[in-house]
Amino acid sequence: MTGGGAPVINIEGLTRRFGAHVALDAVSLSLPRGGVYGLVGANGAGKTTLIRHILGLLRAEQGSVRVFGLDPVADPVGVLSRIGYLSEENDLPGWMRVHELIRYTRAFYPRWDDAYAEELRGAFALDASAKVGNLSKGQKARAGLLIALAYRPELLVLDEPSSGLDPIVRRDILGAVIRTIADEGRTVLFSSHLLEEVEQVADHVTMIDHGRIVLSAPLDSIKESHRAGAHVPSLDEIFVARVAASPAGTAG
Ligand code: ATP
Repeated sequence: MTGGGAPVINIEGLTRRFGAHVALDAVSLSLPRGGVYGLVGANGAGKTTLIRHILGLLRAEQGSVRVFGLDPVADPVGVLSRIGYLSEENDLPGWMRVHELIRYTRAFYPRWDDAYAEELRGAFALDASAKVGNLSKGQKARAGLLIALAYRPELLVLDEPSSGLDPIVRRDILGAVIRTIADEGRTVLFSSHLLEEVEQVADHVTMIDHGRIVLSAPLDSIKESHRAGAHVPSLDEIFVARVAASPAGTAG
């Protein structure tokens, strides 16, 4: 459930250009604490660029970004120590063994939870002595998720967490993990172009197209407002309709 209070993420009028290309166009977004926020958009829509601003990897050239009320570029420690992050690339050090990766990562986080890390390792069926570089893509994603979760971050940011994961892992692991975090009152922001999956786990959906937010609302109210008689459209159908209707054009 989405909670009240100060927003975890507050973005106002964020515009980002790469040369002549406008990757984010006057984006404003306020995410209250607690709940699962799905960020959806076609390839190149601007999802990763938005996430990179939230993590302080890109400086806001125009507009402002606040995470926990802090500027993530000015205060990277204050912000990043409270965020768990799993990137699309998930570039973990291949030469480490799983237990070394866990030991190495825990050194950065005073609130690291050993028992939880071990529980996740078991649930994810990860061999502690396996070399990270020899893990399959799905196993690497599980390892990345483990180290993003084991310090129980207030905000978990997942950029296309499903890429490379098989459907069982997606449904059983990712879905369960995301729901558990939200049920504990923490916040999850995840980007995806798999709308069916977003529909299964998100409380709130933000659609982005050509750098603009075309829709941002609780999933239930999005579905209700797009209902046509007895037919309640899928998020996929709503996305196609909204993106085709936006001034920027197509979903391609
Ligand atoms: P995908 O689903 O394919 O990952 P996305 O929604 O995450 O897409 P972004 O990666 O945010 O999209 O990219 C938005 C736009 O900005 C794209 O047109 C991309 O080519 C461009 N872009 C992103 N980063 C850079 C960069 N460092 N230099 C130049 N252009 C960039």
